[in-house]
Amino acid sequence: MPTTRPRIGVLALQGDVREHRAMLEHVGASSSAVRRPSELEAVDGLVIPGGESTTMYKLARAFEVFDPLRQAIGDGLPIFGTCAGMIMLADRLEAAIDGQETLGGLDIVVRRNAFGRQVDSFEAELEVSGIDGADPYHAVFIRAPWVEKVGDDVEILARVASGPAAGRIVAVRQGPLMATSFHPEMTGDHRIHGIFLDLVRQH
Ligand code: GLN
Repeated sequence: MPTTRPRIGVLALQGDVREHRAMLEHVGASSSAVRRPSELEAVDGLVIPGGESTTMYKLARAFEVFDPLRQAIGDGLPIFGTCAGMIMLADRLEAAIDGQETLGGLDIVVRRNAFGRQVDSFEAELEVSGIDGADPYHAVFIRAPWVEKVGDDVEILARVASGPAAGRIVAVRQGPLMATSFHPEMTGDHRIHGIFLDLVRQH
């Protein structure tokens, strides 16, 4: 079981690996880059960063870490997927490319590039359940997915508050897995990584 300073890996195939590691260290975890199955075995939790899910899928296959990741999910490893990482954790996808597979684990349907061209990238204030403090969370979205459907065991942590996408689900948790549509490593607000650290400590 994790000690008071859990070791959290960041899947280092693509994306903001350094930024996620800095956030994790700040909230009290130790961090490492994970590319190989042996590196995956050494962690108490894992972050899957944003990027391009189709590329990440191919790289995970190329590095032979795709099946070990599925195994780790089956074994109950806490994993936090952000943006493309959310796509990787979804059981089902809308707007996937041909042959694109996910790791799965979260009983959700995720739509890729859901917010459309007009709002390719945007920022929004969110109420996120479980974060410390009363201040809203300032979220950065980049060609982001949203969660179109959730299963009964999925807890909704945040929805878009206003605008054309009002009500859309952008953060979820189910057991040891959590996911956000947005990029929590891109602001100075560490509270989302804090929630994940709590989740790692509980499992
Ligand atoms: N649009 C990307 C995808 O489908 C995700 C974008 C992101 O991770 N910022 O994989």
